[in-house]
Amino acid sequence: MTTRTLLLLLAVGLPLLVGCVSTAPPASTVVQVSDPWFTRGQATLERRKALARPATKAKNVILFIGDGMGISTLTAARIFAAQRDLDGELTGRSGEENHLSFERFPYSALVKTYTTNGQVSDSAGTATAMASGVKTRSGVLSVTSEQPKGVCAGSRDRAVDTILDLAEESGMSTGVVTTTTLTHATPGAFYASTPHRDWEYDAVIPADQKPCPDIARQLIEYDRGDGLEVAMGGGRPYFLPAGRPDPEYSDRTGLRQDGRDLVDEWQQRPGAAYVWNQDQLRDLDVAQTDRLLGLFESWELKYTVFRDPKNEADPTLTEMTRAAIDILQKNPRGFFLMVEGGRIDHGHHYGSAHMALEETRQLSMAVAAAMEKVDLDNTLILVTADHSHTLTISGYPSRGNDILGLVRENDDQGGATGKLARAEDGKPFTTLGYANGPGARHSFDEQGRTDPSDHQTHGSRYRQQALVRLSDETHGGEDVALYATGPQAHLVGGLIEQNVIFHLMRHALGLD
Ligand SMILES: [Zn+2]
Repeated sequence: MTTRTLLLLLAVGLPLLVGCVSTAPPASTVVQVSDPWFTRGQATLERRKALARPATKAKNVILFIGDGMGISTLTAARIFAAQRDLDGELTGRSGEENHLSFERFPYSALVKTYTTNGQVSDSAGTATAMASGVKTRSGVLSVTSEQPKGVCAGSRDRAVDTILDLAEESGMSTGVVTTTTLTHATPGAFYASTPHRDWEYDAVIPADQKPCPDIARQLIEYDRGDGLEVAMGGGRPYFLPAGRPDPEYSDRTGLRQDGRDLVDEWQQRPGAAYVWNQDQLRDLDVAQTDRLLGLFESWELKYTVFRDPKNEADPTLTEMTRAAIDILQKNPRGFFLMVEGGRIDHGHHYGSAHMALEETRQLSMAVAAAMEKVDLDNTLILVTADHSHTLTISGYPSRGNDILGLVRENDDQGGATGKLARAEDGKPFTTLGYANGPGARHSFDEQGRTDPSDHQTHGSRYRQQALVRLSDETHGGEDVALYATGPQAHLVGGLIEQNVIFHLMRHALGLD
């Protein structure tokens, strides 16, 4: 019998023997209980045991949606945010131990994101589920699943009430903030109802479907309660008549064909303000402003990685979130606010993890800023995603390996070698990769897979290698996470359907 076998027998037999004389669990060794992982693990358990489950209702609800912020995005972003500072410089930190701001929330759940007709969903059907409590088809906003996409007839009768509608009708203040166009699917689902998510302004609605109002018009005409208090994002030409010069870009004009100036219509309301750049937002007199429309770009706001730090006209998501809360908090009856980090999704579609991860960090910062502004005893904060993407974190990189770099692996004894891992083709590979998308264009040539050690994998436009060549990387169909803190947050748990998020919010606000 070898020593090893003897030890194995002892290990199996000893607990059985001990079990005969005593039922006490075996004590862990000194070396184990003094290990920092052990003590930190125990501390986490103690914190969870002490968690309160307040019976109080929420006065306010803030719903943060990271568009396309799947679980692999969260893991990669928390590593990225620790490894690289806001200037993109390496910090020397390993990263895996980091938390995004909302990853410290006490409650979380997994969320099933499919739509009634899609195994892998889009942002319209998923936003409708969160906004209204019912699942529907992909591509439609806040109409039930019976409504065919792109067909105006019948859509009015199939419109559903949203959490924003209910909040307005109970006298609360409401707002939507996004880094995409204000009329995009995610914000749109909360204040508009339409059989086609692309009907952002009137000129794109087919002539035979014109009876349906465009999404921009629905925002300005929104009349539930006393109307929306805050709306900030991009998509300025959708609100301005065709031919009207854009204030920021001399070569662009408004796009509306009905001749309406929706910005002017907004400003007719008492206490209403309009801003289109960062300086104006910073100079805003919140005390004098009851309603705020911000249209900061022609299309989406700039990706954070392409912002000009010295001369940038777009506000950050954090700045918009702060301004929104300042205005909404003036209402003693509370508020509902939806904040979307909308360009996480776009970075992924482009095939660039760097763009997407920086946008995820920005969302995390906006959540942290909101937590500083509100009273967490009366404000429920939820953070989730509408759907995932095809990003994967793979290989066996050493702890602390650059998340934007090539896989460098450990030696047989587990020590970091800095040595590149190599695929069967003899070439290295990156930790991050996509199942599909435009990254596949440069991933293969006549010799097979290209060598990513020839690539600038840290570049802000770098597209990770991908397998299936598509012009746009696609969404992913696995579950997303939901994080919660504040009153009624303890109801968030388990595996839930995405439409349950509406029911959680409505209940937390006492509107059910
Ligand atoms: Zn998308």
